[in-house]
Order: sequence, then structure tokens, then C-alpha cells
Amino acid sequence: MKVIKSISILQNTIKKYKREGKIIGFVPTMGALHDGHLSLIKRSLKKTDITVVSIFVNPTQFGPNEDFNRYPRPIKKDMGLLKKLNTDILFLPNNEIMYKDPLTTVSVKNITNILCGKYRPGHFDGVCLVVNKLFNIIMPDYAFFGEKDFQQLIVIKKMVFDLNMSVKVIGCPIIREKDGLAMSSRNMYLNKEERKSASQINKILKYGKSEIEKGKSISLIKNSMKKQLKKLKYRKLEYLEILDEKTLSKINNKSKKARIFVAIYIGKTRLIDNMGVKII
Ligand code: AMP
Repeated sequence: MKVIKSISILQNTIKKYKREGKIIGFVPTMGALHDGHLSLIKRSLKKTDITVVSIFVNPTQFGPNEDFNRYPRPIKKDMGLLKKLNTDILFLPNNEIMYKDPLTTVSVKNITNILCGKYRPGHFDGVCLVVNKLFNIIMPDYAFFGEKDFQQLIVIKKMVFDLNMSVKVIGCPIIREKDGLAMSSRNMYLNKEERKSASQINKILKYGKSEIEKGKSISLIKNSMKKQLKKLKYRKLEYLEILDEKTLSKINNKSKKARIFVAIYIGKTRLIDNMGVKII
């Protein structure tokens, strides 16, 4: 595995591969890798000739009171996992290399004002800026994103569409722990009791899904789910929404698929999860 920290070296390396006709796959991450990340990397390794993984805890997507400083950075362990998978390139830039007083912003409107965007102002601008930069540096044919961050996936797809970027964005399913908790680098913040509470989120989502698929009233289901979430220990519910999966707007007669979205604090740890639902 090549470990590259410099943008120009990475660009030259990619250009060489492109001249050889190689298909480039890209998986952006913030590290503290788990099986969720690894599933995206495996998908890229299967589909493309050269897989680039980036590890960069992107400061511009964190709010001033968020966990940028304490975000886990187990870089040696991550490198071991990436090597084991036979990842071709790890791109490991630092802040100074990535950001030299940029005056440019990348902003996707409307769909970033809801769900996480409503509670994390500026978050998606930070995500779009860094992903845009990474796409320009790596010029991938395919980029792999997890449905764990479903809103992010939709926002990136819209950015790529609006800006006519030539990368194909592939959404990959959520990987869960045995008890259903969606894998996340932030799960390691949870103590034993909090971890137990966190495992209930998935069960409540599953309940919501089965009730919606029985054709019951969305607003009644939402109320019942909220009640169940509020019973969890250490909770502060940020949002629970059931929206059209394609448009992220309210479900209407034309909606074919919905998605239940939840963001909840278990103790000090903010967890997000979501689940797709058929509409009958
Ligand atoms: P992060 O390191 O949190 O920025 O995540 C990097 C990528 O991994 C994003 O596309 C996430 O959506 C994806 N990801 C994180 N957790 C999971 C998971 N449990 N299952 C699938 N993909 C995930």
C-alpha cells in the first residue's frame, strides 16, 4: 500500500494510473475504521483497478462545540486494516496541506436545511468542500459512500449532478453490530450502559418500518416511535423524521420509498441512523 501525504504526488500517481487505463475507486473517510468503512473499501476493490482511501478528520465539517479535537485517530490500527485488505493507496493529508486559507465555498441548498443540516449549521458546506477537493485531486471513476449518512449521500449525489462531475457515486448499505446498532467511529465514546440504550435505536426503527409497511398512519407511528425513543436512558432526541427517500421531502401520493431518520444523543454522544421503508 502506498501512503501518500502530498497532493501533487497523489495527482501524479493517479495520472500515471489513468494513462494505463486503470479505473480509479475512492472511499473518503475520517478514519477510526470499522466494518462499515471496510465494506465500502471492499466494494471499491472489487469494482475498480485502483482503490484510494483517504483518512482526513475534516475540520470544516465540525461545528465549534462539536467533537473535532476528541475525534478518534488510531492511525496505526487503521493502516494495518487497510494493508490487510490490499488497499492500493492511502491518502493521508494534514490540515495545512488541505486548506490554505480558501475563499471558495461549495453549498448545496434546500436539502441541507433539514435533518442533520438543521442542527449542524455549515456541516454540509464543509463536507461538500472537502469532497469536491478530494474528487478534484483523485479524479475517481467511482466514489463509495455509506447509507449510514444518508443525507450526505443524497447531498453529494446532487452536487455531482449539478456540477457535472464525472464521478459515479455509489451508495452502500449500513453495516450494523450484532445487536443492530449502526457501526460508527463515535460508538467508542459510549459507556456500557449507554451502549445498551443505543442498541434500542435499531429496534425502534424496525418497529416503525413494520408499522409503515402495514399501511398505518405516518403521524401516529412517528408519535409512538418518539415515545419509545424518549424512554431510552440518557436520551435527548434531536429529530425523528419519516421522509420520501428520493426527495427528502414529506411523503405524498407519488412517494414509492420512504426513509426513517433519527438523530439522538445517548449521553454526550450524538448518534444517527436511518432505515428504508416500502410504501404500499
Ligand atoms: P466517516 O469516517 O464517518 O466520515 O465515514 C466514511 C464513510 O463510511 C461514509 O461514506 C459513511 O457513510 C460510511 N460509513 C460509516 N459508518 C458506516 C456503516 N455503519 N455502514 C456503512 N457505511 C458507513
